[in-house]
Amino acid sequence: MAVAVAGSELWTERRRRVAELRARRGFARQLLDFYGALLAVQERAFLDATVSAPPPRSVAAYVAELVLPSVVDVTVAVGPDRLRAEVIQRIESQEGHDIVRRWMQGEGQPAVDRYLARASLGPVLEALDVSAKAECDGPRDARHCPACGGLPQLSYFAAAADELATGARYLLCARCGTTWGYARLTCAGCGEDASAKLNVFSEHGTTSGERGSIVRGLPGGAVAARQAAVFPHMRIEACDSCRRYLLSVDLAADRGAVPIVDEMAAIPLDLYAREQGYSKITTNLMGF
Ligand SMILES: [Zn+2]
Ligand SMILES: [Zn+2]
Repeated sequence: MAVAVAGSELWTERRRRVAELRARRGFARQLLDFYGALLAVQERAFLDATVSAPPPRSVAAYVAELVLPSVVDVTVAVGPDRLRAEVIQRIESQEGHDIVRRWMQGEGQPAVDRYLARASLGPVLEALDVSAKAECDGPRDARHCPACGGLPQLSYFAAAADELATGARYLLCARCGTTWGYARLTCAGCGEDASAKLNVFSEHGTTSGERGSIVRGLPGGAVAARQAAVFPHMRIEACDSCRRYLLSVDLAADRGAVPIVDEMAAIPLDLYAREQGYSKITTNLMGF
């Protein structure tokens, strides 16, 4: 089945990238170890949903019953201490269906609930067709996922087929993993496109990115400039109109990058953006 083949490649790629970044980025090792363990649970959920999809209008119940318990188990077994403690407290409450439903409907919920819902629902929506994604609430417009109405998790630039061309820009949905094209140099949070309002922060030594609004601001100064950049293919795209930001991955600058994995392991960029007073359009699965 075509979907299953494409799907298994998706998970193989994510695992490969977790292993690569784990070796390169000591600061993210614990998080990547945990994500690696979670990926095994998510891949199984993806494959199960591919083989036997839930009946119409029952995605939340399916996820709560068949996926969430495994996400709880792996988190309790190898999750970071604080998350593990929160999850243990939460599972007493037996509200799995409600936890997933709230995330699907875009309602506010505690961070631990959001984590459980996202980790469980994500691979199932990735496996299913548009009708399952349509069970989620949210506007279908340029700044929301066309399939499920979710907010963008990150932005990325595709590697252009032609070396001289610049790759197209895409946003990736935090809820279902769908990607959609989006204008360059336009805020993904509010649509602002006045260059004076848009700030791009990239690391010293980074060569990728549009000129004109680059602020080379990451800590480390001259020393960092002489060393190889840790995130040569990534940047912070921030907006002074809505004070929000997201991280962007340039696949032309690192063809081995897997945006969803690279974004998660770029914690120093998130910390820097927050120090500048910006808040992320959507925190990633790990809460950064
Ligand atoms: Zn979506
Ligand atoms: Zn904005």
